[in-house]
Amino acid sequence: FKQQIGVVGMAVMGRNLAINIERNGYTVSIFNRSKEKTIDIIKKNYGKKLFPFYSLKEFVESLNKPRIILIMVKAGKATDSTIKELTCYLNKGDILIDCGNTFYKHTIIRNEELSKKEFHFIGTGISGGEEGALKGPSIMPGGEKLAYKLVEPIFKKIAAYKGSEPCVTYIGPNGSGHYVKMVHNGIEYADMQLIAEAYFLLKNFLRLNNQEISLVFDEWNNGELNSYLIEITKNIVVKKDECGHYLIDLIIDSADNKGTGKWTCQDSLDFGEPISIIAESLFTRYLSSMKNQRMIAAKNLHGPCINKFYGNKTKYIEKIRKSLYFSKIIAYAQGFSQMRTASKYYKWNINCANIAKIFRAGCIIRAQFLEKIIEAYENCKDIKNLLLTPYFRDISSKYQKDARDVISNAIKNGIPVPTFSSAITYYDSYRASFLPANLIQAQRDYFGSHTYRRIDKEGIFHTNWKN
Ligand code: NDP
Repeated sequence: FKQQIGVVGMAVMGRNLAINIERNGYTVSIFNRSKEKTIDIIKKNYGKKLFPFYSLKEFVESLNKPRIILIMVKAGKATDSTIKELTCYLNKGDILIDCGNTFYKHTIIRNEELSKKEFHFIGTGISGGEEGALKGPSIMPGGEKLAYKLVEPIFKKIAAYKGSEPCVTYIGPNGSGHYVKMVHNGIEYADMQLIAEAYFLLKNFLRLNNQEISLVFDEWNNGELNSYLIEITKNIVVKKDECGHYLIDLIIDSADNKGTGKWTCQDSLDFGEPISIIAESLFTRYLSSMKNQRMIAAKNLHGPCINKFYGNKTKYIEKIRKSLYFSKIIAYAQGFSQMRTASKYYKWNINCANIAKIFRAGCIIRAQFLEKIIEAYENCKDIKNLLLTPYFRDISSKYQKDARDVISNAIKNGIPVPTFSSAITYYDSYRASFLPANLIQAQRDYFGSHTYRRIDKEGIFHTNWKN
């Protein structure tokens, strides 16, 4: 007898997905380039319906036709070489699913090449880390719809659930699934940095201790800000190491990244999409990792010291909460706008309500307020900017005042709030009926004859500015 599905790549993600699929009633063939990882899984006796293979040919031959093969290897060259090897043994109509964090343009190319050979290809974003892969991730599949229909029952079983709804939906053709995953990660960068700034203010401006900070996050998690990232932050700040010290206070303040936030930003530049909070959160990671330079600058560059806070702490905590929610709304508005632009360009016809739905469980950016995004898109499919929809318009108009207060106090006290301030700046620029771009146009025309348009007349103009 043959297995129903195969998984290639037995590192943490592939292994957990294979176990998840097996637990949901499927027979699964597994393969890894080097055999140790496969042996380890079998030794640990994870499931009776996991079948190990140590040659790719035998692995492929062990599968029912049309074969369904999920690839979970290091994104990039490893994906290419795995696909190349696999295709030597595949038949027309077999389905390859790349679940890695692949750059969506690579998925578009692979999709085209594989469909020429009459193989099906589904570029699939998976979010939720190793726990999500095991217990239920959020799944973002893109590719040929007919092929997707064949794997949909499996995805629906292994996905996270929000109530009775599985966190998987067909995103659209070719690279759309990986695109949505990429933007999800960009939003994740922004979410994390925004929370980090709120934490920094609670710690350094209000001088709360770790227990108090944890209580604040706990309270926030019961309201509008309810989300996975707030919940884990509540736990992180009070975790102690084996010597009884708060671990958070011992971790070096230098943030790494694996590149997906960079892709989101690079792509936004190509599309002319101002995702300023997401970009700022990426730059802030880069700046944080210049630890040595920062230590020199700390000794050489002067600025204000943090003044003692004399106001009402409870009231100020509420202002920080509102600033965080305000900024979070703008980060998501930017990310969703970028997805809309890409969808129009590539003719993916993505459904933003469904995307917000599958972000509600399993993935890292799962949050209560996604319900509001769903509501907005269900009322109007083609939203240019979430800020213009009733709920987000009203809440941001209401919260912006406190955000200004918090940000200006932070600046006065020399506390860096890069994404908080990026949010308010975006908000003010976006709502400005007139920006100083008239001067930019004049300067461009002055030094480069780039021309400009006028308020009072139709047409394109150029002035000889030096006469
Ligand atoms: P890694 O990204 O660390 O990749 C390791 C796996 O890739 C191993 O199975 C390894 O095989 C295989 N591999 C590496 N190079 C090659 C090659 N040239 N040919 C064939 N196989 C190769 O593993 P993860 O489990 O962390 O992630 C897998 C994928 O899932 C990645 O694309 C990642 O970006 C994505 N992802 C990861 C998440 C996470 O939280 N870790 C979350 C969501 C997606 P070998 O053992 O032989 O070296």
